[in-house]
Amino acid sequence: MSFIVAIDGPAGAGKGTITKMVGEKLGLVNIDTGATFRCVALNMLQENIHIDEEEKIKEILEKIDIQMEHDGTIHLNGEDVTKRIRENDVNNFVSPVSVLPIVRNKLLEVQRKIAEGKNVIMEGRDIGTVVFPNADVKIYLDATPEERAKRRVLQNKEKGIECSYEEVLQGIKDRDKRDSTREIAPLKRAKDAIYVDTTNLSIKQVVEKIIEIIENK
Ligand code: C5P
Repeated sequence: MSFIVAIDGPAGAGKGTITKMVGEKLGLVNIDTGATFRCVALNMLQENIHIDEEEKIKEILEKIDIQMEHDGTIHLNGEDVTKRIRENDVNNFVSPVSVLPIVRNKLLEVQRKIAEGKNVIMEGRDIGTVVFPNADVKIYLDATPEERAKRRVLQNKEKGIECSYEEVLQGIKDRDKRDSTREIAPLKRAKDAIYVDTTNLSIKQVVEKIIEIIENK
């Protein structure tokens, strides 16, 4: 039996930071599903595979190896890609890649397997709706696009990635649109998810709020 906390929401809502902190405090394994999509997108860029080349995509999916270490390091086919998967070419390519049914089906299997028998806090876009519709706790984290862009720019700076606010804001808006209008597993709030607007809250306040929600379960 495992205990599952699903955290969904758009890019830059704070899912990554919050999930990591809540996971550490409550002893839950933290799983970032966006990173799995980013790894597939990066692998396609590395192999020069176009979005229409289904056979080639199938081939890389058959042999792809994605490892998530406890310290947050991500390995793609043995290579440390933790920083690489946050760069702009991957940001721009990941949402069209995540629309592909073969990619979603493969990663659905990967994500369910990672959580097997564990108590987890899993963040993504469709965790409470598709991956774990029976999750014990479902939270939908949100914030305005402007606030999310501001946070992304700061986060990138800390990681040594240069970018402009305008470029990030446009990227976020494009991604929101694509993620919420796609046919398969779109970004949407599960009916039974608790909505948390983080626009005017500090990280500490959001973490406290979420821990309270989980502990009340
Ligand atoms: O969370 P992050 O911004 O790293 O996710 C990158 C992209 O992966 C999202 O914009 C979305 O297109 C896709 N994704 C998804 N389903 C998930 C997690 C991420 O489609 N569960």
